[in-house]
Amino acid sequence: MTSKLFDPTTCELLRGVHSNEGPASLYIDGKWQPAADGATRTIVCPANGTEVGSVSEASDADTERAIEIARRTFDAGSWSATPAVDRGKILLQTAALIRKYKDEFAAAESADTGKRLPESEADMDDIANAFEYFGTLAQHAAGRVVDPGDPSVRSRIDAEPIGVCGLITPWNYPLLQVSWKVAPAIAAGNTFVLKQAELTPHTAMMLMSVLERAGLPAGVGNLITGAGANCGNPLSKSPLVDMVSFTGGLETGKLIARNASETIKRTALELGGKNPNVIFADTDFDAAVDNALNGAFVHSGQVCSAGSRIIVEESIRNKFVAALVERTKQIKLGGPEDTAAETGALISEEHRQKVADYVDHAREQGAKVLCGGRIASAEDNEGSHGTGNTDLSKGWFYLPTVIDECTGEMDCVHDEAFGPTVTIETFETEEEAIKIANDTEYGLAGAVWTQDAGKAERVARGMRHGTIWINDFHPYLPQAEWGGMKQSGNGRELGPTGLAEYQELKHVYQNIAPAVTGWFAG
Ligand code: NAD
Repeated sequence: MTSKLFDPTTCELLRGVHSNEGPASLYIDGKWQPAADGATRTIVCPANGTEVGSVSEASDADTERAIEIARRTFDAGSWSATPAVDRGKILLQTAALIRKYKDEFAAAESADTGKRLPESEADMDDIANAFEYFGTLAQHAAGRVVDPGDPSVRSRIDAEPIGVCGLITPWNYPLLQVSWKVAPAIAAGNTFVLKQAELTPHTAMMLMSVLERAGLPAGVGNLITGAGANCGNPLSKSPLVDMVSFTGGLETGKLIARNASETIKRTALELGGKNPNVIFADTDFDAAVDNALNGAFVHSGQVCSAGSRIIVEESIRNKFVAALVERTKQIKLGGPEDTAAETGALISEEHRQKVADYVDHAREQGAKVLCGGRIASAEDNEGSHGTGNTDLSKGWFYLPTVIDECTGEMDCVHDEAFGPTVTIETFETEEEAIKIANDTEYGLAGAVWTQDAGKAERVARGMRHGTIWINDFHPYLPQAEWGGMKQSGNGRELGPTGLAEYQELKHVYQNIAPAVTGWFAG
């Protein structure tokens, strides 16, 4: 059965990819190509099990080929010598084309991820904004002049491209994560090989077509579709790659960092999170409950910055948990086109099983599951989570789950579930709240809820996480750095630092009055 939402064989942006001989979804040197061994993969919509399409499944040999092209293109020099203002124009034109084809992009993203259409549409706006941000920033980040303290010397710092970039991205926000890497890589004058997550390839393929239309020269941007273990490894191992930028899980990140160390590549790692949402008794109660739901259950919790740990002040715990559970039980689940749905399916059956195992393990360790805690079935279609429009037994749905009576000894407050689950812990003092919020190997994001501005500042300062929201959850800005402390990663995406990650700095020191030094007598 084929998904009606998006048909890659008729998509205008994917012309040249599909033929009677099968898919040719690798974009290398400006041409669509099949995998050298002819391997393919079927993409399935997680919300209903329908077939979205078929793509090429690359091997490491295909990736090596793409890397060689990216290396040759970079070393030829004409791309990196292209004025930054012209590279910026390509990015601005890319943003305009993403807006023009927004409906097709959103349909493809929802078909691949099972995400509700309005969420994918909002993602496309954010993606266009990211291209616009880096398109504008490109010409303003050429370097700086240094005062050498000597009138006979000129000293400046040139910001040059780093070279060939290996870009590896996850499936949860497929094109958004791609845009945060591709846009700065182009702005800085690099060439790249992008490896999109194997489950969600279509919007990255469409992006390559848009970049070509926007004027990106052949060989600058190359795309590989396929599984990490098969075709991802060369991106962190090849001596022809100068930098690897990875967004994904902690264990994969560690492997990539180990591989990259062999050739001292620069690494940028955006990894997982176990993000605390700290709620004080003096908060705006209704806003805190509402945003706790958003923090935990948007995109069924498959968000690196999901507010998966609620840390609530003891004096309001009963009232807060009761209100949270009441609303969690009402969350409507459904597929991309189900307008009554509020959140969607998990990405795969395998991933849903991991979430189910995580909840079962929490129960075994003594935590109490207050609602949800199981895979959705056909009976749920008629229950409080059903909309009447989606058969929940056909997709990879899991019921939104609140896990109470959690303590720091339990794995559920430390392990990333990456699903629709939230744990409850309590505190009595400000110091205790900060201590619990920092009791994690991760450090990606967190929130604090209070009407006391001084307390908010103190707690925000004490929390060791890369983003802190005060009285909010989830918003981010393209002009503000995003990234993790501790084992949530290194480096930053977005903001000026998100461009600097893709640049090498060169100090050029010029003596305009050369003279004999007299250092050596003979
Ligand atoms: P994953 O680590 O399984 O895969 C991420 C990407 O790495 C995929 O493209 C995969 O094919 C590839 N990969 C796997 N093995 C590889 C290898 N040996 N060499 C090269 N590439 C390889 O992660 P996932 O399940 O796709 O994504 C979920 C994870 O991503 C979660 O932990 C989430 O927190 C994290 N994430 C982080 C951020 C952030 O901004 N920090 C954003 C989104 C997702």
